[in-house]
Order: sequence, then C-alpha cells, then structure tokens
Amino acid sequence: MTATKPFIPILDLKPEVDELRGEIMAAIGRVLDRTDFIMGEDVHLFEQEVAAYLGVKHAIGVNSGTDALVIALRALGIGPGDEVITTPFTFFATAESISMVGARPVFVDIELDTLNMDVNGIEAAITERTKAIMPVHLYGRPVDMDRVMLLAQERGLKVVEDCAQSFGARWNGRQTGTIGHLGAYSFFPSKNLGAYGDGGLIATDDDTLADTARMLRVHGSRKKYHNETVGYNSRLDTLQAAILRVKLPHMERSNEHRCAVAKRYNEGFADFPGLVTPEAVEGHSFHQYTVRVLNGRRDELQQALAEQGIGTMVYYPIPQDQLPIYKGQYPSYPHSEQAAQEVLSLPMGHKLSESDQSEVIRAVRTFFDI
Ligand SMILES: *Cc1c(COP(=O)(O)O)cnc(C)c1O
Repeated sequence: MTATKPFIPILDLKPEVDELRGEIMAAIGRVLDRTDFIMGEDVHLFEQEVAAYLGVKHAIGVNSGTDALVIALRALGIGPGDEVITTPFTFFATAESISMVGARPVFVDIELDTLNMDVNGIEAAITERTKAIMPVHLYGRPVDMDRVMLLAQERGLKVVEDCAQSFGARWNGRQTGTIGHLGAYSFFPSKNLGAYGDGGLIATDDDTLADTARMLRVHGSRKKYHNETVGYNSRLDTLQAAILRVKLPHMERSNEHRCAVAKRYNEGFADFPGLVTPEAVEGHSFHQYTVRVLNGRRDELQQALAEQGIGTMVYYPIPQDQLPIYKGQYPSYPHSEQAAQEVLSLPMGHKLSESDQSEVIRAVRTFFDI
C-alpha cells in the first residue's frame, strides 16, 4: 500500500456534513435544551418516522446493527443448541450475532453473480436444530425474499434480515427488513443512512416480537426495576436519533444518486474484459459498488488505484468460516473463497461527484490499457 493520502476516498462523509450542518446543529441544540439524552423525544419521533418510511408497524431503535441482530435473535427465543443459516460472505457481525446468543451459524455458499447467499442451497442446510434463516442483502442488493419466505413457511423457520447494508433497498417494491419476521439495520456512519456515531434499528410487524425486543433493549424489563430476563443496555441515543431525523427525508434522493453512480460505472466499464460489474437490479441501494477483478489481478488494480490517490476496499478478504474463531469447523465454500480473492469496492456515496467518478473510470481504464 502506498502512503499517499487518497484524493478520492472510497467514501467521503464531509460534503453531507457540510450541507446539513445548520439543520443538524439546530437538532442537537434542541436535545441539549431538553436534556432528554436517553430515550428522549427524538427517539420516539424517529421510530415513528422510520416505521412510516419502511412501511412497518414497529421500529425499535437500538445501540448498533450488531445489537439489532442479537436482540432480534433473542426475541425469537434462539439460543444454545439452535442453528441459524446465513452466508459466509459478509461482515463478522452477522455470524457473530448468532454465536453471541449461543447458537451455531450454518453457512450456505454464495452465488457469484449476486454475491448473496444462494437460496438454492438453503434447503440442504436445514437440520432439526435449524430455527432461522438470516439473509444478508450484501452491498444493498436484495436477496430473493420470495424464495426465502416460501422455504421458511414450508419448514417452519423464522427469518431475520440483516439490512445493515440495505437501508432503503426494496425487493419487489417492499423495503428489505420488512419481509422477514424481523429486520435489523445499522446506522454506522458509513451506512446508507448513517448516524454520527453508533446506532441500529429493529423492524417488525409482529406485536409480540416488538414487545420482547423493547423489553430486551432496556435490561430485560417492561416495567422499570422489574427485570424479567438478562437483556441489554442497548438504546438508540437521543442525539443520534435527532441527527437521523434530519437525514431520513433525504434518503430516497441519496439512494437514487447511488444508483445513478452505479449505472454510470457500469456503462464506463461495459467493455472491460477481466472485470465483472454488479447488476443494477431494481431496488438495489448500492451501499457499495463492488466489482470482481478476474485473472488474479485484484490486488494489482487496488495498488494501481491507490498510487493515483483512489481509495478502494476489499469487502471482505476472509470468508467467515475461515476466520480464526470458526476455522476448521466448516466445509469449504468455493464461491465465497473466490469472491474474497476477486472483489473490490470502488468509491461510492450519495455525494460522489461526477468528476471524481470520471477520474475513477479513467484510472481503471488506464490499468486495463483500454
Ligand atoms: C455494519 C454491519 C453490521 C453491524 O452493524 P454495526 O452498527 O456496526 O454494529 C452487521 N452486518 C453487516 C452486513 C454490516 O455491514
């Protein structure tokens, strides 16, 4: 890696901060005036507004996307002895949440063209211990939820959608995270809807699951000092909720910009042999724009772009089953291993300018000598 500071980082949060600074400072000021820092007015209003945006009955703010996954699993009563089916090609928090509640992640290999869990492989992974399926809408590309839900219904399984990367993405017009029994979202700053710190959310249409999740997020108590179970201290900060309320109305426009960027990249790279571009399917929220670089040239391309000050990332270099924590416990997943060698995420963001994007396309073109 070169030490040059990228002039086109993979993600630049500053333009948005600058655009919304006035509104955000005012929102923060109102929280300071009220001093309702924990479970304050903005948390309740944000939960209502985000539920309306997603088209779901209950939205429950929590401390992070990881906590949203953990609490969703706990709300379903999943724990030791249980198995949850998911993808090996994701961020660790997906599998970690399953391990955290004492259950075992069971991996199903991905399809190379979507980089999502191959839904055709789920059936064979089901055992009598299987309790749930946890699809991940990786990079914002929606998983085929019709097939997942049909299988779940047939086999009596629950579905927790990991929507950390898919806020605003839609499957057949429906928001991801509102199709399964529960959806878990992250507001980590780099996500499509990012807070200015940690934050997360659980979405569900089920009154009982919502009630249990609300109980779990405050130390397992429905009534203060009447703790029923070991829960979590996992609330969404009022300050973060206030910031998210400023950003939520911009979501649709932001995701539209991301899709436009993706389409422009796809056009720019259309004639490149050795590069597989992501399909800009309907409903994709393009959290990341991730290509596959063939012929073992991924690291070389990353290096060449870095030398020109263009930031890229490999999401993710190690499939989950190969991590030190799980190594040796699973069979191999060849597509995930191949993807880990080939993927490269290019600069993306809802404020990425056309000129910066042209620069990226030009640099990739130069590398392939086209
Ligand atoms: C970011 C992310 C998470 C975890 O969210 P945090 O808010 O960072 O805890 C979970 N799953 C996936 C796929 C993610 O990208």
